[in-house]
Amino acid sequence: MIRNEILSVSDKDLKSMSTAEVYEVVLEVVQNRIKEVEHVKGDRKVYYMSAEFLIGKLLTNNMMNLGIYDEIGAVLKENGHDISDIEGFDPEPSLGNGGLGRLAACFLDSIATLGINGEGLGLNYHFGLFKQVFRNHLQTETKDVWLDIPSWLRKTDVVYPVQIGDVSLKSRMYEIDVLGYRGKKTTLRLFDLESIDETLVGEGIRFDQEAIDKNLTLFLYPDDSTETGLRLRFAQQYFMVKSGLSYILESHKDVLTELHKHVVIQINDTHPSMVVVLLIQALQERGVSFEDAVEIVSNTCAYTNHTILAEALETWPINYFEAVDADLVPILHKLQDIVATRSTDPKVQLIDENNKVHMASLAIHFSFSTNGVAALHTEILVKSELKEFADLYPTRFNNKTNGITFRRWLQFSNRELTSFLESRIGDEFKDEATALKAFEAFKDDKEVQDSILAIKTSQKERLAKHLAATKNITINTNSIFDIQIKRLHEYKRQQLNMLYIIDLMLRIRDGYKPSRHVTFFFGSKAAPAYIIAKDIIHSLLTLSEIIANDKELSQYMQIVFVENYNVTEAEYLIPACDVSEQISLASKEASGTGNMKLMLNGALTLGTLDGANVEIKDHVGEDNIYIFGKHSDEIIEHYEKADYVSREYYDNDPRIKAAVDFLISDEMLAAGNKDNLARLHHEFITKDWFMTLIDFEDYVTVKDTCFNDYEDRATWAKKMIVNIANAGFFSSDRTIADYNRDIWKV
Ligand SMILES: *Cc1c(COP(=O)(O)O)cnc(C)c1O
Repeated sequence: MIRNEILSVSDKDLKSMSTAEVYEVVLEVVQNRIKEVEHVKGDRKVYYMSAEFLIGKLLTNNMMNLGIYDEIGAVLKENGHDISDIEGFDPEPSLGNGGLGRLAACFLDSIATLGINGEGLGLNYHFGLFKQVFRNHLQTETKDVWLDIPSWLRKTDVVYPVQIGDVSLKSRMYEIDVLGYRGKKTTLRLFDLESIDETLVGEGIRFDQEAIDKNLTLFLYPDDSTETGLRLRFAQQYFMVKSGLSYILESHKDVLTELHKHVVIQINDTHPSMVVVLLIQALQERGVSFEDAVEIVSNTCAYTNHTILAEALETWPINYFEAVDADLVPILHKLQDIVATRSTDPKVQLIDENNKVHMASLAIHFSFSTNGVAALHTEILVKSELKEFADLYPTRFNNKTNGITFRRWLQFSNRELTSFLESRIGDEFKDEATALKAFEAFKDDKEVQDSILAIKTSQKERLAKHLAATKNITINTNSIFDIQIKRLHEYKRQQLNMLYIIDLMLRIRDGYKPSRHVTFFFGSKAAPAYIIAKDIIHSLLTLSEIIANDKELSQYMQIVFVENYNVTEAEYLIPACDVSEQISLASKEASGTGNMKLMLNGALTLGTLDGANVEIKDHVGEDNIYIFGKHSDEIIEHYEKADYVSREYYDNDPRIKAAVDFLISDEMLAAGNKDNLARLHHEFITKDWFMTLIDFEDYVTVKDTCFNDYEDRATWAKKMIVNIANAGFFSSDRTIADYNRDIWKV
């Protein structure tokens, strides 16, 4: 059947087609099949509004979910084509930045799989965040082009007007089908500026930030270090929310006064939170009284908080609202009046004395649910970070520990492990992730241990092939693969990992002989305006060169910084990982989801008691995880007392001093740039806001133990098995079922 479909799509002989042509044929065949899949439906519907959807390549995912992967592969093979070339050709949509966007993508997959009536709403960024290119050991940014070949994005006839100040814009809706596993399908709806002008982008990622009639959907998170940049981001948020609301209100126009009975809008972080004001305004325009509109909106919206980092809780000057639509200002003032009747505590006010609107405050006061994304995170929100809100609305606060879709992160990216699991415990885990628990019974089975280790080796070889082919990097597959892949941020502490590496170098030069080679993998983009994060990248790339050029050191270690980390790279790195670095400063990582993907693939976590690491530890038991570092309550206390002084650690611990000072050693200065290295060195000693040095000693001790334990292959394999077997809780199917049970009730 598939054979006929493939052959009938084009008159040309498949054998003589280029990869690009075959790709188009396969795309069309798969899209035709998707058309036949039933769309989720129902009377009540959830709209997941998010500035990011980091969905990854879709071809493999869709072919597998349709159950036609093998068949298509066979037909292509008969005609001289390799399916993996076609999969490689599929572009990765550049619609997200990190964990928050990936979470939104996993959620859509689970919504479709579970058949929940829900859709995603966001923006169609032409060049994504940016494409990371390393030059002279520095991160540079260029546009990430993904729309230049036919893809999964479908243009619709739906166009809405959006007025921003005195500029009249048109917003066109695009769609991407999201296919569930053995389930239904749903739609990701992405709005785009009709008058977008891609030629605005010059060198790197620079463009005229003022021309919002041409630039609005060029990039995700454009540089906001200037006033113009801030206003552009604000306009983007407005455009996204306004377009999304036009669609929602059109779809439910007959039930506006009972909207909350038919619609839930899940606000993913504060970026879409102005939906509260815009929806009140829209209802008023349609004849609903202000009081009723506030009531309806408060029962329609639900908010997810993703961070406790103060700088990430957005505030917008009220004059930004005024510039975009002056009618919003009286609404905001009336909402502030309502807040004032509920509490006089300055911490919960909507508009502060500087006339800034606190977007989290807006989302919490005028919604029916606020959730954190891991047990510890929610606890910190309720007990300290958002305490005043939680005291006001104790029943609204709830926890929904994040999850990941096992389709992408196990079944598609680690097919070898998947079929091995099937051979031992059957395939129930594909529908119900907690069925993986049955695998734990094999933890002492020598044959299973050997197989698990063999699969890990073969996944390392797969990664090695990929890196050789795409980045010209050679790696040693007999090495321990220590992996830290996530956005670059000081709170995630890539710099702590770096200090360990320097310390190890110095020890080796002092005569220490590690029992095995270690490869330290990094994959991270730094925000273009985040100077220290870019200095950390520079230091790691410089170190990488020093190690590679040192005959002795390179016998024991290698640093591989994978350029332009994205979902595709993650799919190669994660199955190959031995040690999963989850070393954020306790209390700072809301949840993490990389930690979940890695445990599912048999990596052992080396981490702090932060975010979902806490729950991973609860599930696997402390013998099967490497925990180090200060606990969150102690860290929170240090911040409250402001008594952490990095200089004391530097002065009192010769090992810390030696590692930090290595950054400005002659060797480093010869290979790298003085400006970057000296700035980072200075930062460590004078500031170190995320307390790298406080955990250094403990980190080194536990990491050494972890690497030594690796040599007892049987015990290590047993721990891997326990990790895989207990990953079921972290399926996004469970998370989505929880959201639906407690919040959406769809
Ligand atoms: C899962 C994922 C993330 C999130 O990683 P964390 O370690 O949870 O921060 C970021 N980027 C990509 C591409 C991912 O797949």
